[in-house]
Amino acid sequence: MINVIILGPPGAGKGTQSQRLEERAGLKQLSTGDMLRAEVAAQTEIGNKVKAILDRGDLVPDDLIVAMIGKRIGEFDCKYGVIFDGFPRTLAQAQALDAMLEKKGSPLKAVIELAVDEQELLNRQRSRIAETKAAGGEVRSDDNEETLRNRLSVFRQQTTPLIPYYRDRGVLETVDGMQPVDVVSRAIKAILAKNDGTCPASNGNAVKNACPTR
Ligand code: ADP
Repeated sequence: MINVIILGPPGAGKGTQSQRLEERAGLKQLSTGDMLRAEVAAQTEIGNKVKAILDRGDLVPDDLIVAMIGKRIGEFDCKYGVIFDGFPRTLAQAQALDAMLEKKGSPLKAVIELAVDEQELLNRQRSRIAETKAAGGEVRSDDNEETLRNRLSVFRQQTTPLIPYYRDRGVLETVDGMQPVDVVSRAIKAILAKNDGTCPASNGNAVKNACPTR
């Protein structure tokens, strides 16, 4: 059983890389963004509550996200482990995840940080919107430059503190997300192969106990 977190700013490629990783035996990708958008589309109580927050690019409340993830990771398809895509995004979420994984007896193998600079993220967004429109598709309601700038600022303020948090635990691995998609996938696979069953520090309990293999 392995759990992996893919961490990075909006548009860094977390979704693409998580989907590719899902093909590894039995790992389930959970994207909190996708889960929230599904709630909005289905006009559930949660969906109606979070729609405006998503459209602004702000974060939905921690308790809501933690409850949603807590319920989801208890389901059958998560029993071999999860790739967390877009979660945790705040220190409070990270601490809640630690507690949930500890309770489940399910270790955190690695946190993969996808590093991409902000100008590149803005460029990627421009091409993505143009491609979607050219293909006659529908652009996500939070996919515009103004909202992206807010999402980047939210990332800087609320999510980047997770980098030292996980680095101190010895589970952080940084991958250059500016490289081509295939190169990034291979780098992630290599990290996980290296860490398979070799890191006693990554079980959510052994805080500040660096992994001896890295
Ligand atoms: P991206 O990776 O492009 O930022 P996501 O699909 O991960 O997009 O997230 C879209 C939106 O969903 C976020 O801007 C935020 O409003 C909300 N969201 C997703 N995950 C979380 C989370 N863990 N905590 C709070 N809000 C979240």
